[in-house]
Amino acid sequence: MTRLIRLPLAALVATLALTVACATNPVTGQRQISLMSEAQEISIGQEQDLLVKKEMGIYNDPALQQYVSDIGMRLAKLSERPNLPWHFAVVDQPAINAFALPGGYIYLTRGILPFLQDEAELAGVLGHEIGHVTARHSAQQYTRSLGGQIGLVALSIFVPAARPFGDLASAGLGVLFLKYGREDELQSDQLGAKYESAAGWDPEGVPGMLSTLGRLDEAAGEKKGVPNWLSTHPDPLSRVKEIQPLVQQIKASAGGPLERDPATLLQRVDGLVYGDSPEQGITRGATFLHPPLRFRIDFPQGWEVMNSPSQVMAKAPGAEVYMLLEMVEQPQGRTMQDVAGNQLGKAGFRTAQGERTTIDGLEAFVGIYQGQLEGLGSVTLRAAHIAYDRNVFMVAGFTAPDTFQQADAAFLQGIRSFKKLTPAEAENIHPNRIDLYVVRGGDTWQSIAERSGGVIKPASLAVMNGAQPSSQPKPGTRIKIVVGG
Ligand SMILES: [Zn+2]
Repeated sequence: MTRLIRLPLAALVATLALTVACATNPVTGQRQISLMSEAQEISIGQEQDLLVKKEMGIYNDPALQQYVSDIGMRLAKLSERPNLPWHFAVVDQPAINAFALPGGYIYLTRGILPFLQDEAELAGVLGHEIGHVTARHSAQQYTRSLGGQIGLVALSIFVPAARPFGDLASAGLGVLFLKYGREDELQSDQLGAKYESAAGWDPEGVPGMLSTLGRLDEAAGEKKGVPNWLSTHPDPLSRVKEIQPLVQQIKASAGGPLERDPATLLQRVDGLVYGDSPEQGITRGATFLHPPLRFRIDFPQGWEVMNSPSQVMAKAPGAEVYMLLEMVEQPQGRTMQDVAGNQLGKAGFRTAQGERTTIDGLEAFVGIYQGQLEGLGSVTLRAAHIAYDRNVFMVAGFTAPDTFQQADAAFLQGIRSFKKLTPAEAENIHPNRIDLYVVRGGDTWQSIAERSGGVIKPASLAVMNGAQPSSQPKPGTRIKIVVGG
């Protein structure tokens, strides 16, 4: 959960009143049908930028923001569209991702930064995203998505069923994760290599970052909250091969040496938050803690917990049994019973039974509801609506009606675990961070990962350091590690 702010879809819809125009592609020089003028591109970028900042948060490290922005601006000024209002930002998300909005708004997640090996790879990612804007891929894809719902990646990738609750903001944010076609990706790789070499970086940064990101598969467990780069950028390893001839050609004709600069980037990521940040709530095993909102909740042992900007989901291993935590948007009603009835009634749920109670001394209403969820069909829902500090939280468990009886004890236990945090307890919750470490003889990726308290898997640690998971770290080299909070 970020700050749990929802933007009305109306703001988004207002930007969709597009007119058909013919525009020249700035990169190819060809005329193409476009549904968007440059002014419209910019105004969509501006509006969606507000949504990104509110939903994802901007990572609080002005020096790092400036560093990324300086590199981005150097590249953008050398592009075919130097006069767009370029903006570069690191969003406070643990997922490994980078994305572009029409009009020149480029974002990296903080989660991608430790996986880049040097400044040339950072410039490679930024250059690639700049390419999506300069070649008008983002504008075209945006137009297409809105027209035919093509290429949208929903925010709630964890379970589509969660969408009736997380509805509007998720739909709005989904538009940001545009999927591009293979041709567009190759063109952006080429543009990225071109821009970064023009600015003095080694174009190997593009295949370099593609190789690293290609090694990360979902099994590495880096899939968190928002969709990751791999879900929107398929097949990075085959793109490595396709971009190589151009990279070699650029390097052969370069006048002087081109920069890679691993040392500066290593310094910049030292201390970076890894995984959840306290501002968005932290997951520790099956426990979720939210220091700014001052509460904790224990989902059932062994369940997988996913923290996304608009809600927290937990899933039983190997079963279609879920729990969900979210803040009720604009709660309506005098009592928790009214609020519950209104909120779930709007989502099409019928109240089967319920009672007023207290949870950790807080006014609450706990009920059972019947309804339909996209992707799951008929479900029975056990939900608690809890009044806390001028907000209302909903903690709910849901599954198919025939498995409900069996799951209900776990749902109730999870609901009853909702607990206030004292200011001192909230203060004491720290995130995991990136640290630097010099490899000693006998160290393995496994042993280094274990010392971090299990907050990173050995394979992810290897990939983070540009190595194959099957290799061993070289004694004497300085590597990135993760230190538990
Ligand atoms: Zn791309």
